[in-house]
Formats: sequence, structure tokens, C-alpha cells
Amino acid sequence: MTMETGTMKNGRLSLKRGCVDSIDGTSARGAEAAVRPGRPHILSKYVGQTVLAIGAHPDDLELGIGGTLAKLTRAGANVTMAVVSIPNHLRSRREEAKKAAKILGCDIRLLTPNKCSRVEDMKTHELVGLMDELVREFKPAAMFTHCLANLHLDHKLVYDACMSSQRLRYFDLYCYSPTSCHSVNVAFHPQAFVDISDTFQIKMDAIRTHSSQFAARGLGTEHYKDAVTLYGRYIGVDYAEGLEIMRLRLT
Ligand SMILES: [Zn+2]
Repeated sequence: MTMETGTMKNGRLSLKRGCVDSIDGTSARGAEAAVRPGRPHILSKYVGQTVLAIGAHPDDLELGIGGTLAKLTRAGANVTMAVVSIPNHLRSRREEAKKAAKILGCDIRLLTPNKCSRVEDMKTHELVGLMDELVREFKPAAMFTHCLANLHLDHKLVYDACMSSQRLRYFDLYCYSPTSCHSVNVAFHPQAFVDISDTFQIKMDAIRTHSSQFAARGLGTEHYKDAVTLYGRYIGVDYAEGLEIMRLRLT
């Protein structure tokens, strides 16, 4: 889906990405990502490979793993954010989603871009079919999806559908933090933590792009900073995102 060419310049690898056509006709990427040839990290295993990130609604991916996605694209992975439904404010949320994906450096695929809908309106086999199509098309090396510890039914349904898609082929599978516009207490116990100190500001910029969900409703975004600060303390860095590991191939 994405063409890349790399050139070395002043000791930095510069990756130039081509454009990608998505279901709604969006050409998402256009930016150059500069990568310092520094320490490899565990996510380096996805360099040059495709990573699929699935969210029930616009903003879920930014809230849950915006920093990780930005880190992956900057390392040279091809990341596509797939958004299953847009529940309301169709036009503005569609634009917010595209803008936020661009900030993160990801492609975006809106699965139902032309009408407001909720995941719970779909039949189970339709939702699983959508995830299956993505897996068949992208052949991802890794998938990131919702965790089960969510208050929102749509998030749990997407989790279930993604679990189902594991039968089609092997890919590493991770679940990201519960995503809610409010701070809530749910049983999420991540086993892995991604250092996002260098992409934290990008994550917050992407979150604030969803102004229909925050500024327009008088809601702040500070508790997302609190969460990644706490996870950062667990691993001795400024900011980190937590992941549940569902399956991971160590090679
Ligand atoms: Zn959501």
C-alpha cells in the first residue's frame, strides 16, 4: 500500500512515503519521516512492515496508542489506522480523524465513512467480515486493538472481532488502554510499556485535534497525560503507553 524510498542525509535516514488511497478516497500520508539511526527498540521489528491499528471510533487510537503509532511510523513501519464507525458529527469527526492521522504520520481507513453509525448496529458476522477483509488486504505483521476492559460496548465488540481475525494468519497482537473521554477505573493490566517520551507531544496534538469530543464539550485532555506519566514511572521514562500482549512472536 505504501511506497517508500530511503536516502541517507547527514547521518539520518530519510524515508519518503507515497500516497495511499483509502476506502473514502483519502490520500493520507505525504510527510517525510526522519529517523535517527540510534538504538533499535523492540518495535524496530516492524520497520518496513505493515501495522494495523483498529479503533471503534475516531479518537480511540490517538487516546490509546497515539504515541506508539507515531513512534512506529517514525521508525519506518507502515501504519494504517482503521476506524470502524463514526457515531455522530459525521463531517467534522471524519475531518478530525484524517487530520489526527496525518499528525501521527499514519494512513487512515474509515470503514463506514458515509453515514453515522455505531458498531453495535452491525451484525457480528459483518463486523468480523470487516476485520477479516483488513487482515487479508494488509497482511499485517502486528495488530493493535481495543482491550476487553472497556465501558463502551462498541470497543468490546471490536476487541472480539479482532480476536476472531487471528484465525486467518499469524500477526503479533496487542491491546491498548481503555479509551474514554472521561477518567474511569477499569481493570486494565498491561504487561508491556512503550516509551513514548519522544512522541508524547505528537500524541497530545493528535488528541486535541478531536475538538468535537473535547474542547466543544468542555472536556480536558489532561488525564491522558496523567496515564502515560504513571506508566512512564513504571519503566523509568517520562511517558509510556501500556499494552496487553495477546500474542507475540519472539525471534
Ligand atoms: Zn470509542
